[in-house]
Amino acid sequence: MMPCRCRRSNFSCSGKKTDSFALDSLRLSSKKLIDAFPLDDVNANFVRTVNHCVFSVTQPTPLKGPLKVAAVSKAALEEILDLNSSVSQLDDFAHYFSGGKLWPGSVPLAHRYGGHQFGFWAGQLGDGRANLLGEYTNKNGEKWELQLKGSGKTPYSRAGDGRAVVRSSVREFLCSEAMHYLGVPTSRAASLIVSKEPVWRDQFYNGNVRKERGAVVLRLAPSWFRIGSLEILARAGELDVLQKLLNYVIEEHFPTIKLSDPDKYLVFYSKVVNETAHLIAQWMSVGFAHGVCNTDNFSLLSITIDYGPFGFMESYDPNFIPNSSDDEGRYSIRNQANSGLFNVEKLGEALRPVLSSKQQPLIERILKEYPAIYQSRFHELFKAKLGLLGNQEKDDYLIAYLLKLMEDTGADFTMTFRHLGELPARRLLEPAVPQDMWALWDLATHESFSNWVSMYLLRLKRQEGDSDEERQSRMKRVNPRYILRNWMAEGSAITKAEKDDFSEVQLLQQVLQHPFQEQEAAEGMGYAARPPGWAQSLKVSCSS
Ligand code: AMP
Ligand code: MG
Repeated sequence: MMPCRCRRSNFSCSGKKTDSFALDSLRLSSKKLIDAFPLDDVNANFVRTVNHCVFSVTQPTPLKGPLKVAAVSKAALEEILDLNSSVSQLDDFAHYFSGGKLWPGSVPLAHRYGGHQFGFWAGQLGDGRANLLGEYTNKNGEKWELQLKGSGKTPYSRAGDGRAVVRSSVREFLCSEAMHYLGVPTSRAASLIVSKEPVWRDQFYNGNVRKERGAVVLRLAPSWFRIGSLEILARAGELDVLQKLLNYVIEEHFPTIKLSDPDKYLVFYSKVVNETAHLIAQWMSVGFAHGVCNTDNFSLLSITIDYGPFGFMESYDPNFIPNSSDDEGRYSIRNQANSGLFNVEKLGEALRPVLSSKQQPLIERILKEYPAIYQSRFHELFKAKLGLLGNQEKDDYLIAYLLKLMEDTGADFTMTFRHLGELPARRLLEPAVPQDMWALWDLATHESFSNWVSMYLLRLKRQEGDSDEERQSRMKRVNPRYILRNWMAEGSAITKAEKDDFSEVQLLQQVLQHPFQEQEAAEGMGYAARPPGWAQSLKVSCSS
Protein backbone atom coordinates (compact mmCIF):
# COMPACT_ATOMS: atom_id res chain seq x y z
CA MET A 1 0.00 0.00 0.00
CA MET A 2 1.31 3.47 -0.82
CA PRO A 3 1.68 5.65 2.21
CA CYS A 4 -0.40 8.77 2.40
CA ARG A 5 1.74 11.84 1.63
CA CYS A 6 -0.84 14.38 2.69
CA ARG A 7 -0.47 14.18 6.47
CA ARG A 8 1.92 13.06 9.11
CA SER A 9 -0.27 10.30 10.49
CA ASN A 10 -0.48 6.64 11.30
CA PHE A 11 -3.02 6.10 8.60
CA SER A 12 -2.98 5.83 4.84
CA CYS A 13 -5.64 7.63 2.78
CA SER A 14 -7.70 4.47 2.93
CA GLY A 15 -7.75 4.85 6.72
CA LYS A 16 -5.84 1.63 7.28
CA LYS A 17 -3.05 1.77 9.85
CA THR A 18 0.40 1.76 8.22
CA ASP A 19 2.93 0.85 10.84
CA SER A 20 6.05 2.32 9.35
CA PHE A 21 4.53 5.38 7.80
CA ALA A 22 4.39 7.47 10.93
CA LEU A 23 7.99 6.65 11.62
CA ASP A 24 9.49 7.08 8.20
CA SER A 25 7.51 10.26 7.74
CA LEU A 26 10.22 11.91 9.77
CA ARG A 27 12.48 13.55 7.18
CA LEU A 28 16.01 14.30 8.31
CA SER A 29 18.67 16.25 6.56
CA SER A 30 22.41 15.81 6.86
CA LYS A 31 23.00 17.89 3.76
CA LYS A 32 23.73 21.20 5.42
CA LEU A 33 26.37 19.70 7.68
CA ILE A 34 27.92 17.69 4.87
CA ASP A 35 28.01 20.64 2.48
CA ALA A 36 29.44 23.03 5.05
CA PHE A 37 32.65 21.15 5.87
CA PRO A 38 35.23 18.88 4.34
CA LEU A 39 34.42 15.24 5.20
CA ASP A 40 36.89 12.59 6.33
CA ASP A 41 38.27 11.28 3.03
CA VAL A 42 38.72 7.75 4.37
CA ASN A 43 35.37 6.12 3.90
CA ALA A 44 35.77 3.14 6.22
CA ASN A 45 34.92 2.41 9.81
CA PHE A 46 38.15 1.68 11.67
CA VAL A 47 39.80 3.51 14.53
CA ARG A 48 42.32 6.07 13.35
CA THR A 49 43.58 9.61 13.58
CA VAL A 50 41.42 11.74 11.36
CA ASN A 51 42.60 14.99 9.79
CA HIS A 52 41.22 18.03 8.05
CA CYS A 53 37.52 17.45 8.52
CA VAL A 54 34.63 17.90 10.95
CA PHE A 55 32.77 14.64 10.31
CA SER A 56 33.31 11.07 9.20
CA VAL A 57 30.41 9.32 7.50
CA THR A 58 29.79 6.27 9.72
CA GLN A 59 26.87 3.87 9.85
CA PRO A 60 25.45 2.87 13.23
CA THR A 61 25.99 -0.78 14.19
CA PRO A 62 22.52 -2.08 15.07
CA LEU A 63 22.16 -3.55 18.54
CA LYS A 64 21.63 -7.28 18.61
CA GLY A 65 17.96 -8.10 19.22
CA PRO A 66 15.57 -8.63 20.69
CA LEU A 67 15.17 -4.94 21.36
CA LYS A 68 12.93 -3.35 23.94
CA VAL A 69 11.55 0.15 24.05
CA ALA A 70 12.32 0.70 27.73
CA ALA A 71 11.13 4.30 27.96
CA VAL A 72 10.19 7.25 25.79
CA SER A 73 9.75 10.92 26.42
CA LYS A 74 6.26 11.64 25.16
CA ALA A 75 7.04 15.35 25.19
CA ALA A 76 10.22 14.97 23.14
CA LEU A 77 8.46 12.78 20.59
CA GLU A 78 5.44 15.04 20.30
CA GLU A 79 6.79 18.52 20.86
CA ILE A 80 10.17 18.17 19.20
CA LEU A 81 9.74 15.43 16.60
CA ASP A 82 6.04 16.03 15.80
CA LEU A 83 5.34 12.32 16.29
CA ASN A 84 2.35 10.90 18.06
CA SER A 85 3.85 9.13 21.05
CA SER A 86 1.83 6.03 20.19
CA VAL A 87 4.45 5.36 17.50
CA SER A 88 6.56 3.89 20.29
CA GLN A 89 4.31 0.83 20.06
CA LEU A 90 5.08 0.24 16.40
CA ASP A 91 7.33 -2.68 15.51
CA ASP A 92 9.90 -0.49 13.81
CA PHE A 93 10.22 2.06 16.56
CA ALA A 94 13.07 0.33 18.39
CA HIS A 95 14.97 -0.03 15.10
CA TYR A 96 14.65 3.59 14.02
CA PHE A 97 15.48 4.83 17.50
CA SER A 98 18.57 2.67 17.91
CA GLY A 99 20.14 2.81 14.46
CA GLY A 100 18.83 -0.41 12.87
CA LYS A 101 16.81 1.61 10.37
CA LEU A 102 17.57 5.06 9.04
CA TRP A 103 15.13 7.85 8.37
CA PRO A 104 14.95 9.25 4.86
CA GLY A 105 17.55 11.97 4.36
CA SER A 106 19.84 10.69 7.09
CA VAL A 107 23.54 10.32 6.40
CA PRO A 108 24.97 9.23 9.77
CA LEU A 109 28.02 11.16 10.86
CA ALA A 110 30.56 10.86 13.64
CA HIS A 111 32.02 14.19 14.73
CA ARG A 112 35.74 14.77 15.08
CA TYR A 113 36.54 16.74 18.21
CA GLY A 114 39.25 16.95 20.81
CA GLY A 115 39.37 18.29 24.30
CA HIS A 116 41.09 19.09 27.55
CA GLN A 117 40.35 16.29 29.99
CA PHE A 118 41.07 16.90 33.66
CA GLY A 119 43.20 19.89 32.73
CA PHE A 120 45.31 18.32 29.99
CA TRP A 121 45.05 18.30 26.24
CA ALA A 122 43.82 14.82 25.33
CA GLY A 123 44.13 15.06 21.54
CA GLN A 124 41.54 13.49 19.29
CA LEU A 125 38.40 12.25 21.05
CA GLY A 126 35.33 12.52 18.85
CA ASP A 127 32.04 10.64 18.70
CA GLY A 128 33.36 7.25 19.67
CA ARG A 129 29.93 5.79 20.27
CA ALA A 130 27.54 8.28 18.77
CA ASN A 131 26.02 8.88 15.36
CA LEU A 132 24.55 12.18 14.31
CA LEU A 133 21.60 11.09 12.18
CA GLY A 134 20.74 14.50 10.75
CA GLU A 135 18.70 17.58 11.43
CA TYR A 136 14.94 17.74 11.78
CA THR A 137 12.99 20.97 11.33
CA ASN A 138 9.79 20.69 13.31
CA LYS A 139 6.43 22.30 12.74
CA ASN A 140 7.45 25.25 14.92
CA GLY A 141 10.44 25.84 12.68
CA GLU A 142 12.90 24.66 15.34
CA LYS A 143 15.91 22.71 14.15
CA TRP A 144 17.02 19.73 16.17
CA GLU A 145 19.95 17.40 15.56
CA LEU A 146 19.18 13.75 16.29
CA GLN A 147 22.00 11.73 17.72
CA LEU A 148 22.21 8.10 18.79
CA LYS A 149 24.45 7.32 21.73
CA GLY A 150 25.68 3.75 22.13
CA SER A 151 25.25 2.94 18.45
CA GLY A 152 28.59 1.26 17.78
CA LYS A 153 32.17 1.92 16.85
CA THR A 154 33.35 4.83 14.75
CA PRO A 155 36.79 6.07 13.69
CA TYR A 156 36.86 7.85 17.08
CA SER A 157 36.21 4.84 19.31
CA ARG A 158 39.86 4.55 20.41
CA ALA A 159 39.92 1.50 22.71
CA GLY A 160 36.17 1.59 23.34
CA ASP A 161 33.50 -0.76 22.08
CA GLY A 162 31.15 1.94 20.84
CA ARG A 163 28.45 0.85 23.23
CA ALA A 164 26.68 2.26 26.27
CA VAL A 165 25.18 0.11 29.00
CA VAL A 166 21.68 0.17 30.47
CA ARG A 167 22.59 1.94 33.73
CA SER A 168 24.38 4.87 32.09
CA SER A 169 21.73 5.16 29.38
CA VAL A 170 18.93 5.24 31.99
CA ARG A 171 20.82 8.02 33.78
CA GLU A 172 21.30 10.07 30.63
CA PHE A 173 17.71 9.55 29.50
CA LEU A 174 16.25 10.53 32.87
CA CYS A 175 18.56 13.39 33.71
CA SER A 176 18.46 15.22 30.41
CA GLU A 177 14.67 15.27 30.52
CA ALA A 178 14.65 16.15 34.24
CA MET A 179 17.02 19.08 33.70
CA HIS A 180 14.79 20.43 30.95
CA TYR A 181 11.84 20.48 33.32
CA LEU A 182 13.95 22.13 36.01
CA GLY A 183 14.47 24.91 33.50
CA VAL A 184 18.17 24.24 32.92
CA PRO A 185 19.39 24.42 29.29
CA THR A 186 20.13 20.87 28.19
CA SER A 187 20.10 18.32 25.43
CA ARG A 188 16.93 16.21 25.44
CA ALA A 189 16.32 12.48 25.21
CA ALA A 190 13.52 10.94 23.16
CA SER A 191 13.95 7.25 23.85
CA LEU A 192 15.79 4.51 25.62
CA ILE A 193 16.14 1.26 23.70
CA VAL A 194 17.73 -1.73 25.40
CA SER A 195 19.00 -4.96 23.92
CA LYS A 196 20.31 -8.29 25.03
CA GLU A 197 23.68 -7.53 23.44
CA PRO A 198 26.35 -8.30 26.01
CA VAL A 199 28.60 -5.39 26.89
CA TRP A 200 31.46 -5.95 29.31
CA ARG A 201 32.27 -3.31 31.91
CA ASP A 202 34.50 -3.02 34.95
CA GLN A 203 32.10 -0.60 36.62
CA PHE A 204 34.32 0.48 39.51
CA TYR A 205 37.69 -0.20 37.87
CA ASN A 206 38.45 -2.82 40.50
CA GLY A 207 38.90 -5.83 38.26
CA ASN A 208 35.30 -7.00 38.53
CA VAL A 209 34.29 -7.13 34.90
CA ARG A 210 30.67 -8.03 34.49
CA LYS A 211 28.33 -8.61 31.62
CA GLU A 212 25.86 -5.80 31.14
CA ARG A 213 23.44 -5.02 28.33
CA GLY A 214 23.84 -2.55 25.50
CA ALA A 215 21.39 0.33 25.20
CA VAL A 216 20.92 3.31 22.91
CA VAL A 217 19.51 6.72 23.75
CA LEU A 218 18.26 8.99 21.00
CA ARG A 219 19.44 12.43 22.06
CA LEU A 220 18.33 15.76 20.71
CA ALA A 221 20.04 19.15 20.68
CA PRO A 222 20.02 22.17 18.39
CA SER A 223 23.73 21.45 17.96
CA TRP A 224 26.22 18.97 19.35
CA PHE A 225 29.29 21.14 18.72
CA ARG A 226 31.54 21.54 21.72
CA ILE A 227 34.50 23.64 22.77
CA GLY A 228 36.61 20.64 21.77
CA SER A 229 35.16 20.85 18.23
CA LEU A 230 37.08 24.09 17.72
CA GLU A 231 40.09 23.17 19.81
CA ILE A 232 41.10 20.24 17.63
CA LEU A 233 41.05 22.39 14.49
CA ALA A 234 43.10 25.17 16.10
CA ARG A 235 45.62 22.66 17.48
CA ALA A 236 45.95 20.96 14.10
CA GLY A 237 46.43 24.34 12.40
CA GLU A 238 43.39 23.65 10.20
CA LEU A 239 42.40 27.28 10.24
CA ASP A 240 40.27 27.17 7.11
CA VAL A 241 38.06 24.49 8.67
CA LEU A 242 38.12 26.30 12.02
CA GLN A 243 36.72 29.38 10.33
CA LYS A 244 34.11 27.36 8.48
CA LEU A 245 32.95 25.76 11.71
CA LEU A 246 32.82 29.09 13.52
CA ASN A 247 30.89 30.71 10.69
CA TYR A 248 28.48 27.79 10.61
CA VAL A 249 27.81 27.89 14.34
CA ILE A 250 27.35 31.66 14.27
CA GLU A 251 25.06 31.62 11.25
CA GLU A 252 22.92 28.74 12.51
CA HIS A 253 22.81 29.40 16.23
CA PHE A 254 23.71 33.02 16.95
CA PRO A 255 21.28 34.91 14.73
CA THR A 256 22.09 38.28 16.30
CA ILE A 257 25.69 38.11 15.08
CA LYS A 258 26.27 39.21 11.50
CA LEU A 259 28.83 37.22 9.52
CA SER A 260 29.88 40.51 7.94
CA ASP A 261 30.87 41.87 11.36
CA PRO A 262 34.69 41.96 11.55
CA ASP A 263 34.41 41.34 15.30
CA LYS A 264 32.02 38.41 14.94
CA TYR A 265 34.34 35.89 16.65
CA LEU A 266 34.81 38.20 19.62
CA VAL A 267 31.08 38.78 19.93
CA PHE A 268 30.56 35.02 19.70
CA TYR A 269 33.19 34.49 22.39
CA SER A 270 31.61 37.00 24.67
CA LYS A 271 28.23 35.28 24.29
CA VAL A 272 29.64 31.83 25.05
CA VAL A 273 31.50 33.19 28.09
CA ASN A 274 28.29 34.81 29.30
CA GLU A 275 26.06 31.78 28.71
CA THR A 276 28.54 29.31 30.17
CA ALA A 277 28.66 31.34 33.39
CA HIS A 278 24.85 31.42 33.41
CA LEU A 279 24.60 27.69 32.83
CA ILE A 280 26.88 26.84 35.72
CA ALA A 281 25.02 29.22 38.03
CA GLN A 282 21.85 27.35 37.06
CA TRP A 283 23.51 24.01 37.81
CA MET A 284 24.41 25.36 41.24
CA SER A 285 20.90 26.58 41.87
CA VAL A 286 19.56 23.02 41.54
CA GLY A 287 22.58 21.37 43.19
CA PHE A 288 23.69 19.67 39.98
CA ALA A 289 27.27 18.49 39.57
CA HIS A 290 28.11 17.43 36.02
CA GLY A 291 31.00 15.27 37.10
CA VAL A 292 33.21 15.60 34.01
CA CYS A 293 33.57 19.26 33.06
CA ASN A 294 36.09 18.63 30.29
CA THR A 295 36.12 20.92 27.25
CA ASP A 296 34.78 18.08 25.10
CA ASN A 297 31.68 17.99 27.31
CA PHE A 298 31.01 21.73 27.13
CA SER A 299 28.60 22.78 24.43
CA LEU A 300 29.18 25.85 22.26
CA LEU A 301 25.50 26.61 22.83
CA SER A 302 26.04 26.40 26.60
CA ILE A 303 23.54 23.63 27.12
CA THR A 304 24.21 20.71 29.46
CA ILE A 305 25.46 17.75 27.43
CA ASP A 306 27.05 14.34 27.92
CA TYR A 307 25.53 13.07 31.11
CA GLY A 308 27.97 10.68 32.74
CA PRO A 309 28.82 10.42 36.44
CA PHE A 310 26.71 13.46 37.34
CA GLY A 311 24.94 13.83 40.65
CA PHE A 312 22.50 16.04 42.46
CA MET A 313 23.86 17.13 45.80
CA GLU A 314 21.71 15.98 48.70
CA SER A 315 23.15 17.09 52.06
CA TYR A 316 24.67 20.47 51.34
CA ASP A 317 28.37 19.96 50.81
CA PRO A 318 30.44 22.33 48.66
CA ASN A 319 32.97 19.53 48.22
CA PHE A 320 30.40 17.17 46.75
CA ILE A 321 32.09 15.04 44.06
CA PRO A 322 29.66 12.89 42.08
CA ASN A 323 32.27 10.91 40.13
CA SER A 324 33.94 8.24 42.26
CA SER A 325 36.98 8.30 39.93
CA ASP A 326 37.58 12.03 40.47
CA ASP A 327 39.99 11.51 43.37
CA GLU A 328 41.19 15.09 43.56
CA GLY A 329 37.73 16.60 43.30
CA ARG A 330 38.64 18.62 40.25
CA TYR A 331 34.97 18.62 39.31
CA SER A 332 33.47 18.96 42.76
CA ILE A 333 30.35 21.07 42.83
CA ARG A 334 32.19 24.12 44.19
CA ASN A 335 34.84 23.85 41.48
CA GLN A 336 32.38 23.94 38.60
CA ALA A 337 32.46 27.69 38.16
CA ASN A 338 36.26 27.56 37.90
CA SER A 339 36.07 24.63 35.51
CA GLY A 340 33.77 26.67 33.32
CA LEU A 341 36.30 29.49 33.40
CA PHE A 342 39.11 27.11 32.45
CA ASN A 343 36.99 25.81 29.57
CA VAL A 344 36.12 29.21 28.14
CA GLU A 345 39.77 30.15 28.46
CA LYS A 346 40.56 27.15 26.27
CA LEU A 347 37.88 28.30 23.86
CA GLY A 348 39.63 31.68 23.72
CA GLU A 349 42.90 29.94 22.88
CA ALA A 350 41.19 28.07 20.04
CA LEU A 351 39.86 31.34 18.61
CA ARG A 352 43.15 33.19 18.82
CA PRO A 353 44.53 32.03 15.44
CA VAL A 354 41.58 33.50 13.56
CA LEU A 355 41.75 36.85 15.33
CA SER A 356 43.79 39.86 14.29
CA SER A 357 46.61 41.05 16.52
CA LYS A 358 44.36 43.90 17.63
CA GLN A 359 41.53 41.54 18.54
CA GLN A 360 43.59 38.96 20.41
CA PRO A 361 44.08 40.96 23.63
CA LEU A 362 40.31 41.43 23.84
CA ILE A 363 39.88 37.72 24.53
CA GLU A 364 41.55 38.31 27.88
CA ARG A 365 39.30 41.24 28.61
CA ILE A 366 36.12 39.28 27.85
CA LEU A 367 37.34 36.39 29.96
CA LYS A 368 37.87 38.70 32.91
CA GLU A 369 34.14 39.38 32.99
CA TYR A 370 33.29 35.74 33.66
CA PRO A 371 33.53 35.76 37.48
CA ALA A 372 31.25 38.79 37.82
CA ILE A 373 28.73 37.37 35.34
CA TYR A 374 28.67 34.11 37.26
CA GLN A 375 28.36 35.79 40.66
CA SER A 376 25.58 38.04 39.54
CA ARG A 377 23.56 35.15 38.02
CA PHE A 378 24.19 33.00 41.09
CA HIS A 379 23.01 35.85 43.29
CA GLU A 380 19.81 36.35 41.24
CA LEU A 381 18.97 32.66 41.28
CA PHE A 382 19.53 32.21 44.99
CA LYS A 383 17.60 35.36 45.77
CA ALA A 384 14.69 33.86 43.85
CA LYS A 385 15.14 30.60 45.76
CA LEU A 386 14.59 32.60 48.94
CA GLY A 387 11.65 34.50 47.49
CA LEU A 388 13.48 37.83 47.72
CA LEU A 389 12.39 40.73 45.57
CA GLY A 390 14.56 43.68 44.59
CA ASN A 391 18.11 44.15 45.80
CA GLN A 392 19.21 44.87 49.32
CA GLU A 393 22.66 45.35 50.66
CA LYS A 394 22.86 42.27 52.82
CA ASP A 395 21.28 39.79 50.39
CA ASP A 396 24.59 38.11 49.59
CA TYR A 397 25.25 37.74 53.28
CA LEU A 398 21.79 36.24 53.90
CA ILE A 399 22.38 33.65 51.16
CA ALA A 400 25.92 32.82 52.29
CA TYR A 401 24.80 32.60 55.91
CA LEU A 402 22.08 30.08 55.02
CA LEU A 403 24.51 28.00 52.96
CA LYS A 404 26.91 27.98 55.89
CA LEU A 405 24.17 26.71 58.22
CA MET A 406 23.33 24.05 55.67
CA GLU A 407 26.97 23.06 55.42
CA ASP A 408 27.37 22.84 59.19
CA THR A 409 24.21 20.80 59.68
CA GLY A 410 24.37 18.77 56.45
CA ALA A 411 20.79 19.84 55.71
CA ASP A 412 19.39 18.70 52.39
CA PHE A 413 20.01 21.36 49.74
CA THR A 414 16.87 20.84 47.66
CA MET A 415 14.41 20.34 50.49
CA THR A 416 15.70 23.16 52.71
CA PHE A 417 14.69 25.69 50.07
CA ARG A 418 11.51 23.80 49.28
CA HIS A 419 10.46 23.63 52.91
CA LEU A 420 11.21 27.32 53.38
CA GLY A 421 8.79 27.95 50.52
CA GLU A 422 6.16 25.61 51.89
CA LEU A 423 6.13 27.03 55.40
CA PRO A 424 4.23 30.23 56.23
CA ALA A 425 6.80 32.76 57.45
CA ARG A 426 5.18 33.19 60.87
CA ARG A 427 5.72 29.47 61.59
CA LEU A 428 9.45 29.99 61.32
CA LEU A 429 9.17 31.89 64.58
CA GLU A 430 7.64 28.99 66.49
CA PRO A 431 9.95 27.14 68.88
CA ALA A 432 10.11 24.08 66.61
CA VAL A 433 9.70 23.66 62.87
CA PRO A 434 7.30 20.86 61.85
CA GLN A 435 9.06 17.51 62.04
CA ASP A 436 7.89 16.39 58.59
CA MET A 437 9.85 19.30 57.15
CA TRP A 438 12.89 17.16 57.70
CA ALA A 439 15.46 19.31 55.93
CA LEU A 440 14.39 22.41 57.79
CA TRP A 441 14.32 20.38 60.97
CA ASP A 442 17.98 19.49 60.42
CA LEU A 443 18.84 23.10 59.67
CA ALA A 444 17.05 24.26 62.80
CA THR A 445 19.44 22.25 64.96
CA HIS A 446 22.04 24.95 64.27
CA GLU A 447 22.55 27.39 67.12
CA SER A 448 22.44 30.30 64.68
CA PHE A 449 19.23 29.20 62.98
CA SER A 450 17.00 31.64 64.84
CA ASN A 451 19.43 34.42 64.12
CA TRP A 452 19.26 33.67 60.42
CA VAL A 453 15.46 33.41 60.58
CA SER A 454 15.24 36.88 62.17
CA MET A 455 17.33 38.36 59.38
CA TYR A 456 15.29 36.55 56.75
CA LEU A 457 11.94 37.62 58.17
CA LEU A 458 13.09 41.19 58.47
CA ARG A 459 14.18 41.11 54.85
CA LEU A 460 10.81 39.68 53.77
CA LYS A 461 8.96 42.31 55.76
CA ARG A 462 10.68 45.04 53.78
CA GLN A 463 9.26 43.72 50.50
CA GLU A 464 6.60 46.20 49.64
CA GLY A 465 3.48 44.90 47.97
CA ASP A 466 4.40 41.29 48.66
CA SER A 467 2.36 38.80 50.63
CA ASP A 468 3.49 35.64 52.31
CA GLU A 469 1.26 33.54 50.01
CA GLU A 470 2.88 35.15 46.99
CA ARG A 471 6.34 34.56 48.40
CA GLN A 472 5.49 30.91 48.97
CA SER A 473 4.11 30.39 45.52
CA ARG A 474 7.14 32.14 43.94
CA MET A 475 9.45 29.91 45.93
CA LYS A 476 7.54 26.77 44.98
CA ARG A 477 7.95 27.65 41.33
CA VAL A 478 11.75 27.72 41.55
CA ASN A 479 12.56 25.21 44.29
CA PRO A 480 11.86 21.68 43.10
CA ARG A 481 10.31 19.09 45.35
CA TYR A 482 11.73 16.28 43.23
CA ILE A 483 15.19 15.93 41.76
CA LEU A 484 16.89 12.84 40.36
CA ARG A 485 18.58 11.74 43.54
CA ASN A 486 21.21 9.11 43.19
CA TRP A 487 19.33 6.65 45.36
CA MET A 488 16.27 7.03 43.15
CA ALA A 489 18.20 6.51 39.92
CA GLU A 490 21.02 4.18 40.84
CA GLY A 491 19.66 2.43 43.88
CA SER A 492 16.10 1.91 42.83
CA ALA A 493 15.19 2.47 39.18
CA ILE A 494 18.43 1.11 37.72
CA THR A 495 18.50 -1.94 39.97
CA LYS A 496 15.05 -2.81 38.62
CA ALA A 497 16.00 -1.87 35.05
CA GLU A 498 18.91 -4.27 35.16
CA LYS A 499 16.33 -6.98 35.89
CA ASP A 500 14.37 -5.78 32.87
CA ASP A 501 11.77 -3.88 34.86
CA PHE A 502 11.60 -0.30 33.59
CA SER A 503 8.49 0.70 35.51
CA GLU A 504 10.36 2.95 37.92
CA VAL A 505 12.38 4.55 35.11
CA GLN A 506 9.07 5.44 33.49
CA LEU A 507 7.58 6.65 36.76
CA LEU A 508 10.60 8.83 37.48
CA GLN A 509 10.47 10.27 34.02
CA GLN A 510 6.84 11.26 34.53
CA VAL A 511 7.37 12.64 38.03
CA LEU A 512 10.39 14.68 37.01
CA GLN A 513 8.37 16.37 34.28
CA HIS A 514 6.66 18.30 37.07
CA PRO A 515 9.41 18.78 39.64
CA PHE A 516 7.73 21.75 41.27
CA GLN A 517 4.32 20.10 41.79
CA GLU A 518 3.55 17.82 44.67
CA GLN A 519 2.47 14.45 43.21
CA GLU A 520 0.77 11.57 44.94
CA ALA A 521 2.72 8.85 43.15
CA ALA A 522 6.02 10.54 43.99
CA GLU A 523 5.10 11.02 47.62
CA GLY A 524 4.12 7.36 47.78
CA MET A 525 7.60 6.42 46.56
CA GLY A 526 9.22 8.67 49.16
CA TYR A 527 10.85 10.88 46.50
CA ALA A 528 10.56 13.97 48.71
CA ALA A 529 11.26 12.12 51.95
CA ARG A 530 14.50 11.81 53.86
CA PRO A 531 16.78 9.59 51.71
CA PRO A 532 17.06 6.01 52.94
CA GLY A 533 20.13 5.19 55.02
CA TRP A 534 21.60 2.91 52.35
CA ALA A 535 21.73 5.85 49.91
CA GLN A 536 24.93 7.11 51.58
CA SER A 537 27.03 4.24 50.31
CA LEU A 538 26.04 4.52 46.64
CA LYS A 539 28.80 5.43 44.23
CA VAL A 540 28.73 6.52 40.60
CA SER A 541 31.61 5.70 38.34
CA CYS A 542 32.40 7.16 34.94
CA SER A 543 32.44 3.69 33.39
CA SER A 544 29.49 3.73 31.07
P1 AMP B 1 32.44 10.65 27.65
O1 AMP B 1 33.16 10.38 28.90
O2 AMP B 1 31.24 9.74 27.44
O3 AMP B 1 32.09 12.08 27.45
O4 AMP B 1 33.44 10.24 26.49
C1 AMP B 1 34.74 10.75 26.32
C2 AMP B 1 35.29 10.22 25.02
O5 AMP B 1 35.38 8.79 25.08
C3 AMP B 1 34.44 10.51 23.80
O6 AMP B 1 35.28 10.66 22.70
C4 AMP B 1 33.60 9.27 23.67
O7 AMP B 1 33.11 9.07 22.38
C5 AMP B 1 34.60 8.20 24.06
N1 AMP B 1 33.96 7.00 24.59
C6 AMP B 1 33.40 6.84 25.82
N2 AMP B 1 32.93 5.58 25.95
C7 AMP B 1 33.18 4.94 24.79
C8 AMP B 1 32.94 3.62 24.31
N3 AMP B 1 32.34 2.71 25.05
N4 AMP B 1 33.34 3.34 23.06
C9 AMP B 1 33.94 4.25 22.30
N5 AMP B 1 34.22 5.49 22.68
C10 AMP B 1 33.84 5.85 23.91
MG1 MG C 1 31.66 13.39 26.29
